[in-house]
Amino acid sequence: ATPTAVMVGTGVGASQGVLIKGGQALESARKVNCIIFDKTGTLTVGKPVVVRTKLFKNLALRDFYDLVAAAEVNSEHPLAKAIVEYARKVRGEEGTHAWPEARDFVSITGHGLKAVVDNKDVLVGNRRLMLDSKIPISTEAEEILKKTEQMARTGILVSVSGELVGIIAISDPLKPSARDVVSILSSMKVRSIMVTGDNWGTANAIAREVGIETVVAEAKPEQKAEKVKELQMSGCIVAMVGDGINDSPALVAADVGMAIGAGTDIAIEAADIVLMKSHLEDVITAIDLSKKTFARIR
Ligand code: ADP
Ligand code: MG
Repeated sequence: ATPTAVMVGTGVGASQGVLIKGGQALESARKVNCIIFDKTGTLTVGKPVVVRTKLFKNLALRDFYDLVAAAEVNSEHPLAKAIVEYARKVRGEEGTHAWPEARDFVSITGHGLKAVVDNKDVLVGNRRLMLDSKIPISTEAEEILKKTEQMARTGILVSVSGELVGIIAISDPLKPSARDVVSILSSMKVRSIMVTGDNWGTANAIAREVGIETVVAEAKPEQKAEKVKELQMSGCIVAMVGDGINDSPALVAADVGMAIGAGTDIAIEAADIVLMKSHLEDVITAIDLSKKTFARIR
């Protein structure tokens, strides 16, 4: 590759909002034949909204959301933002009121969080978090959770003082272009795979909507990176597209790591290419640019 060709290629990319960090990434992109997409914030809009709340105990909605919001204000996660925003709505004109104080806040990546609010242990997160903390999930709760997931929504469980008190259903719609991007990639002989920290039910429902057949759900950050390596072992040149801290090991492991511009700084740092406009179709722009750049010099 001539340095000039690479400079022109990266320059064209930059003008289109595709930031390519160096010649190696530009060179590799054209060879990609497997793309792993993260779900939340990558295939989906990443602006989740609370759509339903189910309470099991004799607890007022505003008291429930006070406890949950007190814990979630400490989190950067998109789901946390959705919950806090909804809690403000529940509070109505008192929306600016301060949440109760939370102490001993612990974030459990990919599972949720814990805090002590009003001297009560509050846990907010997925099944795994509840199972690991020995919080029983009733059959009624499990049924609601399954239904929520079949609708491609994420069900967030809340426990207070060791008891499951509610489920929050959160919806995060697909990005409008997601389906088309996957289908265009397929016509380019590039296979799409989805990895997510979210549960299998929601993950499968979203995958079906977007037209992806291979799914890895309930994946920890290291497991996302393992999937990259597994595909590489099977002969794939792998691109990883993600937005979160939990995607960074996979972004580093991939032949080409692509970060969503609206994503976290850590993901942007870990990536070789940054999609500044956060448009999924720019995954294709990057591949095309690489093809054109390296065709020109041949
Ligand atoms: P993804 O890989 O799709 O971007 P994450 O790994 O960030 O998803 O999160 C996986 C799951 O962990 C979420 O679907 C949710 O159930 C739970 N979770 C993570 N962070 C939080 C939080 N702040 N509050 C509640 N649940 C959370
Ligand atoms: Mg994500």
